Amino acid sequence: MTTRSEALRELRRTLQEAGFETAALDARVLLLTALGIPATDLITRPDVPLSPEEAGTLSGLARRRLAHEPVARIVGTREFWGLPFRLSPETLVPRPDTETVVETALALLPDRQAPLRLVDFGTGSGIILVALLHELPNARGLGIDLSFGALVTARANAAENGVGGRCHFALSRWADAVSGPFDLIVSNPPYIASGVIPTLDAEVRDHDPRLALDGGPDGLDPYRVLLGEAGRLLASGGLLVVEIGYDQADDLVSLARTCGLEILRIAHDLSGHPRCVAM
Ligand code: GLN
Repeated sequence: MTTRSEALRELRRTLQEAGFETAALDARVLLLTALGIPATDLITRPDVPLSPEEAGTLSGLARRRLAHEPVARIVGTREFWGLPFRLSPETLVPRPDTETVVETALALLPDRQAPLRLVDFGTGSGIILVALLHELPNARGLGIDLSFGALVTARANAAENGVGGRCHFALSRWADAVSGPFDLIVSNPPYIASGVIPTLDAEVRDHDPRLALDGGPDGLDPYRVLLGEAGRLLASGGLLVVEIGYDQADDLVSLARTCGLEILRIAHDLSGHPRCVAM
């Protein structure tokens, strides 16, 4: 019989040998997930043997990790803005960079107590919308996605984070089924150029949904739509805040000019890349 600490060591070694830089952390999280125990149990009771079922579950999770499935996807949840979010195959794994969008919107809103009307295009698991509603107690929001599965996940995340009563979700290609006015439009649209997708890390390329990544031939198609529709959708004095790829700031500046939108801020992520544009 293999004990918990032996299983942990063995999995860590397997992942290390396969070249995973986060082998130690990954092994711990996968073992805790397979056993369904809190981290403290691993420390206080390391010598408990794994049952055959637990060993089977763990080797299943290990196989998925060895195929470069991100740990967050295997566990099925990920934290964003300090809140727990569940994932589904139809949603991106939340990136910490996307917190830049939430921060920027909050920084530019004149009054957080106002009864703001928000919309999040391509809401995915709902992270941006839910984080904003969490910070804006009198706001109401609409989450839009082209994926029904994503909307189901977003709705569950809104409910579990206590903002379900202040938001709705709707299936639409961008703003096709949406009319304003909105005080705040946010979006982390797909912005990878189609031709670049085959070169992405396996964790992204093989496990994030293509619909959430592919921004068309130059990666800018969704921005053409969103910035083009902003005039119709924004209330006067309203704000549009979008996440961008690390090298897209100049393109966004010229697109904003074409659409008659004023750039209010270009915010950088923790790696120092321009990551979000507010207009
Ligand atoms: N930031 C994501 C990545 O590079 C892309 C997400 C998106 O296209 N919105 O993996």
